[in-house]
Amino acid sequence: MAGSDSKKTLAQETRRFLAREADAGRGDLWTIAAGEAPRVRETKRAPSATQAPGVDLLEEAQNLGLSLPGDTLDQIAGEVRGCVKCTLCEGRTNAVPGAGNGTAGIVFVGEAPGAEEDRRGLPFVGRSGDLLTKIIAAMDEKQLIPGVSLSRESVYIANVLKCRPPENRNPLPHEVDTCSPYLRRQLAVLKPKVIMCLGKFAAELLVGAKGTIGGMRGTVYRYGDSKLLVTYHPAACLRNPAYKRPVWEDMQLLAREYQTA
Ligand code: URA
Repeated sequence: MAGSDSKKTLAQETRRFLAREADAGRGDLWTIAAGEAPRVRETKRAPSATQAPGVDLLEEAQNLGLSLPGDTLDQIAGEVRGCVKCTLCEGRTNAVPGAGNGTAGIVFVGEAPGAEEDRRGLPFVGRSGDLLTKIIAAMDEKQLIPGVSLSRESVYIANVLKCRPPENRNPLPHEVDTCSPYLRRQLAVLKPKVIMCLGKFAAELLVGAKGTIGGMRGTVYRYGDSKLLVTYHPAACLRNPAYKRPVWEDMQLLAREYQTA
């Protein structure tokens, strides 16, 4: 099948699926499962004159972070590597889609790649990454979740932004809006038991509200069917080692919540 034909077929299947869900009264669930308040529908754009309506619907569904028929981590990673949706692509060496196989049912979400991540195309492989890797290894060594092997391979590690901001500056709101559908699609494919937000940008995006880490940690939120927790970013722990204790408490909370998920 030609590319545009298969895209149209996929769009038609998606439209039929969403229509069936809406008929069954589950229309809003798809929005909520994507971690968005229903108002996200306001972002719907009218199809342009040159585009088939179904193609626009497909894009809209992807922007909502819906898991589409055929969506896979590899498919999303390929799109991320070729992404030119914002100007961050101009400064990147490598886009950083995410890493791990997620079989443990846990996803860690950070902010954005740094210099080392950009160089290697992998998340959390610099100084913050070394600390995150140690935390995951300690969780495994302490058997925080009995019977579940925890490693960088068995969890999934991703970021809100897939490309490095210049000089590691904070993500800008329009960059988060543009890039976060990739994360939402990854989460829709992975369906983790627990998502741990590392730092403010991941927390505010996935909780869907502004706040401080101090105020949000300790609360069990939901993101679709997943439990959602918040803790300090490893970089914050490196700057202020006093954060290491609360981070470890949050990992213990993660383990408890995992076992009742
Ligand atoms: N900080 C992040 O938030 N993500 C990385 O991948 C590395 C550092």
